[in-house]
Amino acid sequence: MSGMLYLVPTPIGNLGDLSDRIRETLAEADFIAAEDTRVSLKLLNHLGLKKPLVSYFEHNRAESGPRIVQRLLAGETCALVTDAGTPAISDPGEDLVALCAQAGITVCAIPGPCAVITALAVSGLPTGRFTFEGFLSTNKKSRRSHLEQLRGETRTMVFYEAPHKLCQTLADLADCFGADRRVSLCRELSKLHEEILRMTLGEAIAYYESQPPRGEYVLVLEGAAAPAEPEITVDMGVERVRQLMSEGMRHKDAVKQAAKALGLAKNALYEATLEIATESD
Ligand code: SAM
Repeated sequence: MSGMLYLVPTPIGNLGDLSDRIRETLAEADFIAAEDTRVSLKLLNHLGLKKPLVSYFEHNRAESGPRIVQRLLAGETCALVTDAGTPAISDPGEDLVALCAQAGITVCAIPGPCAVITALAVSGLPTGRFTFEGFLSTNKKSRRSHLEQLRGETRTMVFYEAPHKLCQTLADLADCFGADRRVSLCRELSKLHEEILRMTLGEAIAYYESQPPRGEYVLVLEGAAAPAEPEITVDMGVERVRQLMSEGMRHKDAVKQAAKALGLAKNALYEATLEIATESD
């Protein structure tokens, strides 16, 4: 019987966000796979837990992943943690989950702190439909092509960004989406200096001219306005009725069909086409 992989979120700034279930899962796991064992050791000390730790991060996942899978297949239970937030969301974990899925190992994600959802919720921008874009590439060509793909995006977009790259990213976003596009800069979420700045990209650029960005950021960007629906007029309905009648349809049926297809009021279209009906008699 194989063991299980637990994806265990950790606080993005406030230790008070450690839930009972997070504590229990860490306490019960046979071993913990951590992005940075030094960071996770501090957390375990805070919780008064002593647990075997293995390293699983960006640059060793190809070797470390299969080793973890072997242990899970042998019946052990592993809790995967990253430095902060939900594992597998823009940090190591994605590949390990895929390996476990392939090997038929059960993966259980514990709900908890996650920067993207916290920022989206507080952004003040539409949350009904959104797209998570993670970090933009530092490679100029890939970054440009990524932004180009998003040019007409109507959903709210969420980006992660490091403070020292924030100004360049704001400039690139303004280039692509225009300086008037609204953005919410969600800084130091759940920490003492949490700050949510809701402004336009142009205003954000000006704001950071006088003070360097500090702390961790999530950028929530307004989507493009949806293209306006072409206005349907009664004249268009009249034209459609005329066409249907020329194809042999009776006046009443033509009005019914045209009104339904174009979303026009049947009575108004009937009145407006009485003349055509008389002509064709
Ligand atoms: N897996 C994590 C999660 O789901 O929250 C995200 C990990 S990613 C490597 C780190 C990025 O998350 C940071 O660069 C920043 O954009 C964002 N982030 C993490 N903690 C944050 C916080 N307290 N306030 C604002 N952004 C934060």
